[in-house]
Amino acid sequence: MICPNCQREIADYSRYCYFCGKHQATAFSGAPTRRLHRSVSDCKLAGVCGGLAEYFETDSTIVRLVWVLVTLMTGIVPGAVVYLVAWLIMPEMPVVVPAAPVQNAPEAPHT
Ligand SMILES: [Zn+2]
Repeated sequence: MICPNCQREIADYSRYCYFCGKHQATAFSGAPTRRLHRSVSDCKLAGVCGGLAEYFETDSTIVRLVWVLVTLMTGIVPGAVVYLVAWLIMPEMPVVVPAAPVQNAPEAPHT
């Protein structure tokens, strides 16, 4: 990686230039942080299991099966209470609205 400030070669993982001390924009600094949300697209009740599945990048059916089995094995109440608490605490996934297509301006008449 080349420092944009002093144009010297530095290691790719460097956060600061060794020579001029300038902070480097790494691939990690601009990446969006992964947050735990309730899913709006993959939900059976409130989207808690769907949100957990999206967070851990796994199948939501597996998360639901594990949740139901753990709930049944612990006497239903603890699993149901944890689900309700997760429903209250976890924010809903913000809906991303795609930008409207830009209308092409009519061409100026040729003279
Ligand atoms: Zn530098």
